Amino acid sequence: MGGPQDFLEKYGYLHQDHHIHNVVEVQSAIREFQWLSRLPVTGELDSATLRQMAEPRCGVSDEGSQQIWAQRVGVIFTGKRHHRKRRSTGQAEKWYKRHLTYQIVNWPHHLSLGSVRLAVRTAFQLWSNVSGLVFQEAPEGPADIRLAFYEGDHNDGASNAFDGPGGTLAHAFLPRRGEAHFDMAERWTLNGHKGHNLFMVTAHEIGHTLGLEHSPVRHALMSPYYRKLGRSLVLSWDDIIAVQQLY
Ligand SMILES: [Zn+2]
Ligand SMILES: [Zn+2]
Repeated sequence: MGGPQDFLEKYGYLHQDHHIHNVVEVQSAIREFQWLSRLPVTGELDSATLRQMAEPRCGVSDEGSQQIWAQRVGVIFTGKRHHRKRRSTGQAEKWYKRHLTYQIVNWPHHLSLGSVRLAVRTAFQLWSNVSGLVFQEAPEGPADIRLAFYEGDHNDGASNAFDGPGGTLAHAFLPRRGEAHFDMAERWTLNGHKGHNLFMVTAHEIGHTLGLEHSPVRHALMSPYYRKLGRSLVLSWDDIIAVQQLY
């Protein structure tokens, strides 16, 4: 586990290419992280900030999440729509069809395929319930979205290598790559016992495969820190608005 600067680089708050960052850059990166994590925005590495950095989280970068959220909320108040563009190619990060297929490539041995399939189906249903999207499982053959468990480095770049128990639990790619990866080394559960709730993490990662980025809203499913399964609804107003602005 690296220091705070490694954390800020890994999750997109500091650019990795130049390794020496001045104090102003680092403070502004810390402020942005505190904002997205709903901590007091001090720009200082206080104990609450360091504790938050050590929490298990999603491996998707937080880069750009602040601007995208500001745009999304701006639409609510002004009615003006911004077309989101892929940073490099200028294409919107979304699917251009409503019917999408998914496939469970593998799963942790201690969970039954039946329980995993039910959890995954329910997770997709959360999103289809509030959007124009329709999902169907494709047990074999090609599929738009593939869910797979891997350990350690699994050929999508050193920064995406899984890190064993804790730290990064899963990550996924924005459209239209259609991949969600889960760290096989975590203790996954579907029955509320000790471990990470696979249903909640899957629902979050599906959000990324549909084009959603991280949210600063307290009960948002798309917070970089996975929500626990509780009494409140799984999707927050912010998750619903985000998916409805795309589909
Ligand atoms: Zn995420
Ligand atoms: Zn991966």
